Amino acid sequence: MLGAIEAGGTKFVCAVADEDFNIIDRVSFPTTIPSETCSNVFQFFDQYELKSMGIGSFGPIEVDINSSKYGFVTDTPKKYWSNFDFLGTMKKRYNIPIFWTTDVNAAAYGEKIRGAAINSKSCLYLTVGTGIGGGMIINDQILEGFSHPEMGHILVRKHESDLFVGACPFHKDCLEGMASGKAIEERFNKKGNELSESDSFWEIEANYMAQALMSYTLTLRPEIIILGGGVMAQDHLLHSIRSQFEKLLNRYVYTPQLTSYIVSPGLKGDAGIVGALLLAEKVKQGK
Ligand code: ZN
Repeated sequence: MLGAIEAGGTKFVCAVADEDFNIIDRVSFPTTIPSETCSNVFQFFDQYELKSMGIGSFGPIEVDINSSKYGFVTDTPKKYWSNFDFLGTMKKRYNIPIFWTTDVNAAAYGEKIRGAAINSKSCLYLTVGTGIGGGMIINDQILEGFSHPEMGHILVRKHESDLFVGACPFHKDCLEGMASGKAIEERFNKKGNELSESDSFWEIEANYMAQALMSYTLTLRPEIIILGGGVMAQDHLLHSIRSQFEKLLNRYVYTPQLTSYIVSPGLKGDAGIVGALLLAEKVKQGK
């Protein structure tokens, strides 16, 4: 049996699957304090005999295998999770190979192998939810340099009719500070899904996302960009991002047709958990 955890800042999803990746059982619970959350994780996985596990975690996390903090959640603003030895806690309970990466890397991997990017050599997956993060897969490998990318915190040009100062505790008006679910809530004191579809704000949101996608297109040249996360559940947004992206890029470089270049996740909300299961299989094979 393969085990997988999609550890989000708001909720955890745990699943087990057979060798053919059929999900046999799954559970979801809110992310509270590490001891309570991990005890829920144990309660679920203790019922099964696991061969390996994949974990896609919210971050930032330490992914350098030579670091003494490898497997830790590092400087997260999320209370009680900063400096928590997540991987070590799992390894202590389950003496099996465990693949450790970010939640967005897991989702990107899921989309590459089983989702919207199945026919592409490279893909970029972005989540636009409470926070913004991205993961890039090239030839089935997760892109990592010194550490995992932090694509949500790139700088964007402020929209001329946007007066918001920004919600990022580190940079104020970076992409996450201006376009995340948290930024929307701080602007309006309500969630994005409570705003009307015709609200003029959506054009501003689409503009920030289009700027970001232009930067990623120019720096990474992915074959396909997949946009997931709660904010992207607004269907009209995808269309508007595509049209603003087209204007901004101004045909400077070639991209595939935008309806097949900027897309929704093929695995819908399951990209992260399916990706973590596929990574469990990868680590089981010693890759
Ligand atoms: Zn930031």
